[in-house]
Amino acid sequence: MGKSLIKFSEKLIDRLKVAYNVVVLTGAGMSAASGVPTFRGKDGLWNKFNPEELANINAFLRNPDLVWEWYSWRRNLIKNVNPNLGHYALVDMEQYFPEFAVITQNVDNLHQQAGSKSVIELHGNIMRNKCIDCGQYISEEDLLKLEEEAEKKVPHCPQCGGLIRPDVVWFGELLPQDAIEKARELSAAAEVFFSVGTSSQVEPAASLPYLAKGNGAYLVEINPEATPLSSVADECLREGVEKVLPALSMEIEKIRKRIK
Ligand code: NAD
Ligand code: ZN
Repeated sequence: MGKSLIKFSEKLIDRLKVAYNVVVLTGAGMSAASGVPTFRGKDGLWNKFNPEELANINAFLRNPDLVWEWYSWRRNLIKNVNPNLGHYALVDMEQYFPEFAVITQNVDNLHQQAGSKSVIELHGNIMRNKCIDCGQYISEEDLLKLEEEAEKKVPHCPQCGGLIRPDVVWFGELLPQDAIEKARELSAAAEVFFSVGTSSQVEPAASLPYLAKGNGAYLVEINPEATPLSSVADECLREGVEKVLPALSMEIEKIRKRIK
């Protein structure tokens, strides 16, 4: 296989040369190259379940052990993976723009692990867990103990006996208010907006690129496959993030001065 050269349009380069404000919205495809399966992926032990049937409060109340087991499996998988070149490219890019933010739908903590400073988590974080009744957070250390005691079953809150759940946003739940507000504010102010590795189907995150574009941003999609956003984007780069973002970061290095 030959080297794949990624070509960025002059329009995009011109926008990036002068941009003050850049926003990158990421989805599960961002972490695919790290080995974290996307929800619409085809492999995996859990393929027989539809994530939408597991990632909701009713499923949890009906069958907490099953939902817990699925999250434990995902949490352990995520613990054992590393950020990929795409995550690291975003860390580099942060240094070239006065305002640069990553808005993520991912719950895997990989942006933070890579070193990105400005990360907005729209859907929570799978590493955090809390009691559904009293709301108390359970530290990772305590969780390991509780999980061991509970064997394969869902652990209970040491304080009130309530069920413990991951601190992620389930289908049908509201996003953390401050996170979505900040995400909207940043998107409206963005001069260049990248939608990266997301199927653009989960609201309200899916509306952010429209908000950005409606306020004058240049909209770029990075995804090997087309999504509902593709026809609205100014430019679509049909390759994996692990290729496109390092190439983009090298391009930015050429056209801008490092300021941070
Ligand atoms: P999704 O699973 O619906 O879509 C993933 C998208 O990534 C697809 O459009 C696919 O074409 C694209 N993709 C696959 N490999 C890619 C690559 N190498 N580079 C670029 N794009 C690639 O994911 P979503 O849009 O984020 O929405 C589903 C929900 O699933 C979100 O709420 C998210 O919280 C959750 N989720 C998170 C993780 C995680 O934290 N890593 C994993 C799975 C699901
Ligand atoms: Zn409790």
